[in-house]
Amino acid sequence: MSECIFCKIVDGQIPAAKLIETEKVISFLDINPVNPGHALVAPKRHVSSLLDLRQDELHVLMFVAKRVAAAVIRATGSPAFNILQNDGEAAGQIIDHVHFHVIPRDSEDGFRLGWRHLKYAEGQIEQLQQAIQQNL
Ligand code: 5GP
Ligand code: ZN
Repeated sequence: MSECIFCKIVDGQIPAAKLIETEKVISFLDINPVNPGHALVAPKRHVSSLLDLRQDELHVLMFVAKRVAAAVIRATGSPAFNILQNDGEAAGQIIDHVHFHVIPRDSEDGFRLGWRHLKYAEGQIEQLQQAIQQNL
């Protein structure tokens, strides 16, 4: 039996405040929200990384994330939202079952992502442009 918490939610073995369920995707409220109404959207199939999702799963996942985001902002009255996905431990992924976070936001909510703005060294941006293009 899977030890994955999200697989257990999909199977109904542990409770969750479910929002919507389709054949391939489930959405439920995060138990420890950044803001009230913070929702998670996950494929039902256990996949760790976004890179391992099939295209059909990815399509439905993004479609449901958009639908949930629209409902969350309507329900909470929030003027904005973030859709985030932590892929890998170094990126902050704790639950090893891929999921999008849909987080209602307000300019006064006190949550900051801590974005930074580095500068490229001479020639570095072109080098990376090429390296990434060669891997597409
Ligand atoms: P990650 O860091 O992996 O992107 O986010 C995992 C999220 O899952 C966290 O925001 C955490 O609060 C949420 N979470 C962890 N365990 C449970 C659970 O048992 N139920 C629900 N609904 N959310 C959970
Ligand atoms: Zn799982």
